[in-house]
Amino acid sequence: MKLNTPSSHTWPTFDPGWVWLCGAGPGDPGLLTLHAVNALRQADVVIYDALVQEKILDWAPQAEHIYAGKRGGKPSPLQRDISLRLVQLAREGKRVLRLKGGDPFVFGRGGEEAQTLVQNQIPIRIIPGISAGIGGLAYAGIPVTHRDVNQSVTFVTGHDQSGNTPSSLDWDAISRGSQVIVIYMGMKHIAQIRDHLLAAGRPASETVGVVTTATTDDQQVLETTLGTIEADIAAARLTPPAIICIGQAVKMRQVLDWQSMAAGAAPRNLDPLGTSSDDAATA
Ligand code: SAH
Repeated sequence: MKLNTPSSHTWPTFDPGWVWLCGAGPGDPGLLTLHAVNALRQADVVIYDALVQEKILDWAPQAEHIYAGKRGGKPSPLQRDISLRLVQLAREGKRVLRLKGGDPFVFGRGGEEAQTLVQNQIPIRIIPGISAGIGGLAYAGIPVTHRDVNQSVTFVTGHDQSGNTPSSLDWDAISRGSQVIVIYMGMKHIAQIRDHLLAAGRPASETVGVVTTATTDDQQVLETTLGTIEADIAAARLTPPAIICIGQAVKMRQVLDWQSMAAGAAPRNLDPLGTSSDDAATA
């Protein structure tokens, strides 16, 4: 496969001494942006996180690859140390590519790193990526918004800096105001999150989708309900990283599970919400 660039387009030049903060998408290298590929091809050094699929580094064979995540039980480097390392490498005149899973500004601490860089007078460029809470769900056949389901969506982090469920979250407001709730980093505290939502009035029968290692070859999808989520996650032995989606949008997977359909399965239900009878009749 060859992707030609139209002659009308020029790509930004990665100048020495710059740091480009770039999203790598949720896993599938096909979900890298063209700007990400352009950056990977020019970088001298790539500093990447645990959520970045290593095969994405194959797009930057010329670069030094530095791992900045938690591995083998070793504690992760401190955020401040990573930021200062970026500053140091840029001052050495390197083209520094800081590669993060998903989108760098969605629960990725990209804002903090970028702030430190600017405070140290390092020039930066930001390259957004496809966030797991949107693209990862799409790979499971779950549309994060759907006209018959929701007019808003709330992205929530399942834990805060101290590792607990964020105390600042107003679960009552989220529960009332958002038909679809997408939770990042929610596996550890799923029981607490469930309790908050049930207490705030969400029904135990509400559909929930859990997508682990979304968009990779190891993607797993669990369809469950709010009431049974904890037991079902344990029974399926699911482990992070996982995106948890709560709401009726998950039902759309019955008709939109395109990966299963590509493998030959029939859609389970052409009208899972019971809202498109005219379309179904003509299908
Ligand atoms: N910046 C990232 C999110 C970082 S927070 C983004 O925009 O996607 C880390 C959390 O993201 C994980 O705990 C998990 O909830 C989610 N996540 C990231 N990649 C994922 C993947 N491939 N599959 C499922 N969840 C993922």
